[in-house]
Amino acid sequence: MTTTIRPLILVLLCAALAPAQELMNSVVWMQRAIEYRAATTQTYRSAEQAMLKALATQNWTAAIEQSGDFASKPPAVVLDLDETVLDNSPYQARQIVDGTAFDGASWSAWVAEAKAELLPGAADFLNAAAFHGVRRIYVSNRVCTAAETDPTVIVLRRHGLLGRNDTLMCKASNEDTSDKSPRRYRASAGHRILLLIGDDIGDFFTVARDAMARDEALVRYQRWFGDRWFILPNPAYGSWERLYPDTASKKGALRLDR
Ligand SMILES: [Mg+2]
Repeated sequence: MTTTIRPLILVLLCAALAPAQELMNSVVWMQRAIEYRAATTQTYRSAEQAMLKALATQNWTAAIEQSGDFASKPPAVVLDLDETVLDNSPYQARQIVDGTAFDGASWSAWVAEAKAELLPGAADFLNAAAFHGVRRIYVSNRVCTAAETDPTVIVLRRHGLLGRNDTLMCKASNEDTSDKSPRRYRASAGHRILLLIGDDIGDFFTVARDAMARDEALVRYQRWFGDRWFILPNPAYGSWERLYPDTASKKGALRLDR
């Protein structure tokens, strides 16, 4: 091997491994740091207090898709599933150990295992919702169905989080959009939506991919966060990454002087 080829191979190898290695700090934080557990617990405890306030306030809704006379509709909370209720960090950890990146086949295999545990704080919140007669609606971009044999149904049932009043709204296998707004609209047709809980901005509203549109949307809705919208930290992945899809663009995004 010539001396010029060897560094090139090293660079290519590093580029191929970079996505998995970039995940490492995030995943160790999510799996081991008590700070992450404290943050998710804090979010869900705050959400529980907000839910009680929302329940007692008849003109309260958390869905911008909600319209018309909703005061007498049964109350519900809308939650995302992955990295909101369900902890998929073992799937991310496998990517790091195997030196692979996210792909549909390995993701489906992980989902089919139905092994995901819950984020700290989620069970207490979801049990409190059921105790107060608040329906739990899960709006997820997992491809799943409401069948008893569906692995997402199995995992939610195992955790006692999918009762007969609760609803699972997945992405249909023939659907090519991840936009959750139409499903929030459907959920709000039959319910008064008390809270939205998620780990990605798309769990709250639909926004264009560009950075300026995202910044502007956050300014517009910032008073909703901590009031009727509750967001959980997810440093491992999310729609924000589409702006910085590779190591070079992430490096280019770093701010050095402000
Ligand atoms: Mg999520």
